[in-house]
Amino acid sequence: MTDCIFCKIANGEIPTDFVYENENVVVFRDIAPKAPTHLLVVPKTHVVSLGELEDEKIALELFRAIKEVTKKLNITDFRTVANTGAGAGQEVFHLHIHILANKKLGDIC
Ligand code: 5GP
Ligand code: ZN
Repeated sequence: MTDCIFCKIANGEIPTDFVYENENVVVFRDIAPKAPTHLLVVPKTHVVSLGELEDEKIALELFRAIKEVTKKLNITDFRTVANTGAGAGQEVFHLHIHILANKKLGDIC
C-alpha cells in the first residue's frame, strides 16, 4: 500500500534497523517505547488489522517471528499486544504485534 508507514518501513523505503527479518516479517523498535524493550512485529504484506487478517500463513509467520526474535534476544518474559480498531487504540493501520519486555537490551534495542 503506497501511503502506509509500515509498508514503507518493511520494504526499505524508510531506512530502519531491523532487529529481526525473514521472508515474510520484519521486527523493529517502536519509535515511542512504552517499556524498556518495545518491538513491533510486522508482516511485509499489507493487512489492516487482526480483524481483517484472512491469510493463516501470515498469522503463523507472525507468531513464528515472535518466537524467533525473543529467542535471539534472550527475552523470556514479555507481553504481546495487538490493538485492533481505532476504538482499541490502533493508530497504524497495518497489522502489527507489540512485544513489551522489562529487560533492557544493550546495543540491540
Ligand atoms: P498501535 O497504536 O497502532 O497499536 O501502535 C502503533 C505503534 O507504532 C505506536 O506504539 C507508535 O509509537 C509506533 N510508530 C508509529 N509510527 C512509527 C514509525 O514511524 N516508526 C516506528 N518505529 N514506530 C512507529
Ligand atoms: Zn501497510
